Amino acid sequence: MKTTIFDNPASRLHAVPPGHPEHVGRYEAARNALLALPGCDWVEAGPAGMPDLARFHTAAHVDRVLSACAQADDGEWVALDPDTLVCSHSAAAALGAVGGAVAAVDRVIDDNGGAAFVLARPPGHHAEPDRAMGFCLFNAIAVAAVHALEVHDLATVAIVDIDVHHGNGTQRLAERNPHVFFASLHQTPLYPGTGGEGETGLGGNVLNCPMPDGVTGSQWRARFESEVIPALKRARPELVFVSAGFDGHADDPVGGWGLRSNDFAWAARQLAGIARDFSGSRLVSVLEGGYDCPALGRSAAAFVGALSEA
Ligand SMILES: [Zn+2]
Repeated sequence: MKTTIFDNPASRLHAVPPGHPEHVGRYEAARNALLALPGCDWVEAGPAGMPDLARFHTAAHVDRVLSACAQADDGEWVALDPDTLVCSHSAAAALGAVGGAVAAVDRVIDDNGGAAFVLARPPGHHAEPDRAMGFCLFNAIAVAAVHALEVHDLATVAIVDIDVHHGNGTQRLAERNPHVFFASLHQTPLYPGTGGEGETGLGGNVLNCPMPDGVTGSQWRARFESEVIPALKRARPELVFVSAGFDGHADDPVGGWGLRSNDFAWAARQLAGIARDFSGSRLVSVLEGGYDCPALGRSAAAFVGALSEA
């Protein structure tokens, strides 16, 4: 698939306190690894605007995040929750991530197909309509999914979340929008504690696949193949979104799974196949977690490289 990387250099502006796992080195590691891939287009999109954010977030939430950033003095942080802190420039980074995801949707639709990867931080899949949490300020993939439905008149989109954590914020979207199918494979027990198998959304438009600590690549692939792929075929999405978190990697200090970069490449090929069969070969992926920088770089490159070769 023709593959475009939507780079968000404003990712560098979101500073975090020393020792925080979601630091700028993640962006640089992923970026350097992706720059080595042949054949990908690189684009810098502009920041999202208020009408974009309003497709998922409340005005009060947006105001809270922007006000917290405005209140942060140079070199200081304002905490939105115990592990979600902002500096004065964090809003620029988060708005750039959302803007990249929205532009990625426009690109794969305007081009009648193609894959996109949004290279940005902070991540977004924990951010709920009215709440920042789990390092996430704005939910880029949720905003982009509604953008695809409302602006491009798509009937159904799917969001597959492969981050080791449950995408609670994105699930909130599916729980109120029957045109969104959401599937998540995630470790349990683990932050944020949501994502049980009994959470099935609106008539089954949510599929949660919680799996225990220590899951291997072959176990993960088996669950993906037996549950997520058939559900995607039933959903028949017109665009496939992927919350591409790589913290299920064996080297990751946050997650407890044993995935390797070739497992993420395998997932990319599976999802590209769904996109080819149902979605006009349209796939938009957004970077979420991944906290061991070398593993993050290798995993992101394996994932995007597999998309470009699919
Ligand atoms: Zn994660």
